[in-house]
Amino acid sequence: MTEEIKKEAPAAPATPAAATTEARPQSPSRPAGALTDRRPPSRPQGRPQGRRFVRRRKFCKFCADKSLTIDYKDPDLLRQFITDRYKILPSRVTGACAKHQRALTSAIKRARVLALVPFTPLHHD
Ligand SMILES: [Zn+2]
Repeated sequence: MTEEIKKEAPAAPATPAAATTEARPQSPSRPAGALTDRRPPSRPQGRPQGRRFVRRRKFCKFCADKSLTIDYKDPDLLRQFITDRYKILPSRVTGACAKHQRALTSAIKRARVLALVPFTPLHHD
């Protein structure tokens, strides 16, 4: 039983692979020359090799400014850490550290319960 399967297995993938490699270089409708002509031999205006977009280092706003405190009664501050659909932004977006992200999350959730920050944009009536 097992020997029969082993014999068949290596033979099966070989035939489809050979068929695809044969078909790839030239499509039946188009001549081979048209495909190669379309592609430019070198890229003069491609992506520049040097680093163009130097990403600024993200920092925790609350660690940087010790006077800034996370307060659930301050919706204007919390608004900076939620999306326009009132979802809490992840720390990988805002740069908040774990400690302050935790504090922010609970402050936003508390503010939601007190209706200082909406749960959803659908609550307009
Ligand atoms: Zn922090």
